Amino acid sequence: MTLTGENPSFVLQKVNEVSFEERPIPALYSPKDVRIEIKQTGICGSDVHYYTHGAIGSFIVKSPMVLGHESAGVVAEVGSGVTSLKVGDRVALEPGIPCRYCDHCKAGQYNLCADMKFAATPPYDGTLCRYYVLPEDFCVKLPDTVSLEEGALVEPLSVAVHVSKLAKITPGSSVVVFGAGPVGLLCCAVAKAFGATTVTAVDLVQTRLDLAKEVAATHFFVPTKGDSAAESAAKIKALLAGKAPQFAIDASGAAASVNTAIHVLAQGGTYVQAGMGAPEITFPITEFTVKELTAHGSFRYGPGDYQLAVELVSSGMVDVKKLITHRVKFEEAEEAFKLVVKGQGVKILIGGPSV
Ligand SMILES: [Zn+2]
Ligand SMILES: [Zn+2]
Repeated sequence: MTLTGENPSFVLQKVNEVSFEERPIPALYSPKDVRIEIKQTGICGSDVHYYTHGAIGSFIVKSPMVLGHESAGVVAEVGSGVTSLKVGDRVALEPGIPCRYCDHCKAGQYNLCADMKFAATPPYDGTLCRYYVLPEDFCVKLPDTVSLEEGALVEPLSVAVHVSKLAKITPGSSVVVFGAGPVGLLCCAVAKAFGATTVTAVDLVQTRLDLAKEVAATHFFVPTKGDSAAESAAKIKALLAGKAPQFAIDASGAAASVNTAIHVLAQGGTYVQAGMGAPEITFPITEFTVKELTAHGSFRYGPGDYQLAVELVSSGMVDVKKLITHRVKFEEAEEAFKLVVKGQGVKILIGGPSV
């Protein structure tokens, strides 16, 4: 199909039903807003979950919603009060606008704002369209050396940056990452950039571990079906010459991973939950207690995370390009979503609507 309108948009109509729609070009709401012409968008697990299930927890799709939130583009118009950007600048879009007034916002934890307007989280439209409006301070300018494709990957990379900051990963440390999907792979890369010298990737799929090796991981583990969490943990420790890691990150959401992480951690270690899976699981709380572990939830990203993610890419410390397995045109967005549903590819990028 060809898209001729001024603001073609890729819309989730209802579960398993998407279509292209012509939407009005969004207006600048404040003098601080900029309008961005979207050039590259990555498909995220959450987009696909809305597509196949129509909801994530209490976020329920009740009316048609534009999908997509991992985007980079070019500034097409700036409001009268914009000072940091000009038309033609290439930017990564931080796609969630907090209220700026609540206690969390004032405390510098705006990702916890209850009034967050986040792209492609109902009822707010996402970025798979030609034009999207954001305040200037939620657009991070890309250096000349960073491509728009890399710019789209700044969103999941910022998730990994937030995780590593919460974990307080230290130089020379050992980190184990469960799940080698896009966020897990990026957690491996950021942990290394933060100074971890031993990074162990755990996944059931060997090809994902091969990619983890290319990205950053130093050790790899495929759990054996039927092993208990304690047995898997013992095998990981053996792989690490008996040295338990100080940090564990779960980017899988699988109960077995969470349990293995608690069993494998060293005394006084830190655990961070980055992935979402079953909403409730059993948890080895005795092991957790006697090791005096620290556990952290991690949600999206906060102040400085996007900026640091761009720095990690531009400095060459993290190569996000290695995650890109497919590139499709905007017109092929539905086919791209179906590929992700089938579990194919690592990161699929949608170009356009107007590349
Ligand atoms: Zn995402
Ligand atoms: Zn707020």
